[in-house]
Amino acid sequence: MRRLYINDEWIEPESGQINPTSPVDGSALETVAAGTPAHVDDAVEATVDASDTLREMNVHRRAEAINAAMDAIENRTDEIVSTMTVEVGKTTSEAREEVESAIRSGREYAADAVRLCGEVTRSQYDDRHNFTRREPYGPTGVITPWNYPFEIPTDHLSAALVTGNPVTWNPASAAALTATHIAGAFAETSLPDGAFNFIPGSGGTVGAALSGHPAVRLLAFTGSTEVGQRIAATAAERSAECLLELGGKDPVLVLDDADVSRAADAIVLGSNYNCGQSCSGTERVIATESIYDELVAAVTARTEELTVGDPRDAETDVGPPINDDIRETTERQITAAVEAGARVTTGGSIGDRYIEPTVLADVAPEMQAATEETFGPLTPLISVADREEAVAVANDTRYGLQAAVFTESLQDAHRVIDGLQSGGVVVNGTNNFWEHQLPFGGFKQSGSGGEYKGRWHLESMTQVKAVAIDYGD
Ligand code: NAP
Repeated sequence: MRRLYINDEWIEPESGQINPTSPVDGSALETVAAGTPAHVDDAVEATVDASDTLREMNVHRRAEAINAAMDAIENRTDEIVSTMTVEVGKTTSEAREEVESAIRSGREYAADAVRLCGEVTRSQYDDRHNFTRREPYGPTGVITPWNYPFEIPTDHLSAALVTGNPVTWNPASAAALTATHIAGAFAETSLPDGAFNFIPGSGGTVGAALSGHPAVRLLAFTGSTEVGQRIAATAAERSAECLLELGGKDPVLVLDDADVSRAADAIVLGSNYNCGQSCSGTERVIATESIYDELVAAVTARTEELTVGDPRDAETDVGPPINDDIRETTERQITAAVEAGARVTTGGSIGDRYIEPTVLADVAPEMQAATEETFGPLTPLISVADREEAVAVANDTRYGLQAAVFTESLQDAHRVIDGLQSGGVVVNGTNNFWEHQLPFGGFKQSGSGGEYKGRWHLESMTQVKAVAIDYGD
C-alpha cells in the first residue's frame, strides 16, 4: 500500500484506503492509504513549524530542491506514464507529454523564483526610501483534480515551495496512485522537515478539513467551480487567500473568412484530447452561417478518423473517460439536444467503458450541450449570423476560461479579443492550450485569486510587503 507523508515520515494509517480501479478494463490497482482530518491537523501543524525555516531558506537553495524533485521525476518517467495510463485512461503519448511538460515547468519555476523581486517606488516625501518585497503566505493547502493529475499538482507544489510556502497536498482520489510518484519526488528533496506533506483521501473529508483549517493561509485549488466556490466560502471566514482554477465551457469562434480546414483540425483536437476531459477543451463551436455547413462536414470527417480504445496502444487517439458520470453527462446532453432538434453527424454511441467521439450539428445556444460543461469527447456546433452574434453567444455563460477564434482578418481577430470575456484567447490555434510563458486563469466563474503558470503563478503564491525607510534627520 502507498502511504501518507507527514512531517518527513511515511505513515500507514490503521484504517482507510483508496482502492483504485482502472477505467481501461476495471482491474484493481495498487491501494493507497487514505488520511483523516486528524492527519490534516498533524500535517498543517508541521507546516506551521516549518514556515520560518522555509521562508528563511535562501531561494537559490529552494530552487535547487525543486530541480532535484524534477530530476527524480525525470528518472521515473516511464513508470509514471504507465501508472497514469492505467489509472486515469490517458493515452501513452498524452501521459508522456504531461509529465514532460510538468518537468519543464518545475525547472522554470525554480529559475523564475530567483528573479522574483519587489520594486522600488519614488516617495512623495523627502528622505524616504520605499520598496516592496514578495513574501510567502505560510501554511498552504493544495487540492488538485484527476484530469491533469501530474502537471497541475507538480506546478502548484513547485510554485508554492519555491516561493517559501510549506504545503499540505490532498490529490484527487481518482489519481491517488499517480500522485504517489510526485510525493516520492518531493519527499526526497533537501526541503526542511514538514515543508511538504501528502495526504490522499476523499476531498469531502481530507480536502474539506484542509480548506477549513484555521492555520492554512493560502489555498491553491484546481477543480470544479462548485467545489472551488465552497472552499472559497470557508476560507473567507478567516480571510485566507485562495487561488482558484475552475471549470469552463470554452468556445471556439469560426468566422466567415476562416481557414476551415485549419479550424477543423484544431476543434477536433480540442474536443477529444484527453477524451475531452480538459478544462480548456473545446466545449462549444460557434460558426458564422456562411461557412457553417463546410465546417460541420470537415469536423465530422476528421472526428471519424479518430481511433478509440485501449490508451496503451500506440494508435489510440481517445482513451476511456475516467468514470460513469462523464458517460452519463455526455449521453444525457446528446439525447436532450437531439430531442430539441440537433443532429448527430458522427458518433453518438456510448459503451460500458468508451465514448465514441460525437459531433452535434444544429445546436441551439440554450441546449445543455452548449451551456453545461460536458468533459467528454463531444463537439456541439452552433450557427450564428455574424461576428457580433458569435461573441455574444460565446459570452453568454457563467464561465470564461480559454477561447479561440479562427479568422484571416487582423481587425476581426482584435475585435474578438476585445469582446470575449475570457482569461485567454488563442487566434488560429486550438483553445486547449497552455504554456509556461503565458498566464492561465479564468474570468467570471472559471477562476479567481491569480494565475497559473509562469512568474504569474509565483506572484499568486506570494503577498506584497511594503517597506518605507525614513532616513531624514
Ligand atoms: P472536483 O470534483 O472539484 O475535485 C477537485 C478536487 O477537489 C479533488 O481532489 C476532490 O477530491 C476535491 N474535493 C471534492 N470535494 C471537496 C470538498 N468539499 N472540499 C475540498 N476538496 C474537495 O473536480 P474534478 O472532477 O477532479 O476535476 C474536473 C473539474 O476541474 C472540471 O470542472 C474542470 O474544468 C476543472 N479543471 C480546471 C482547471 C483550470 O485550470 N481551470 C484545470 C483542470 C480541471 P476527490 O477526488 O476525493 O473527490
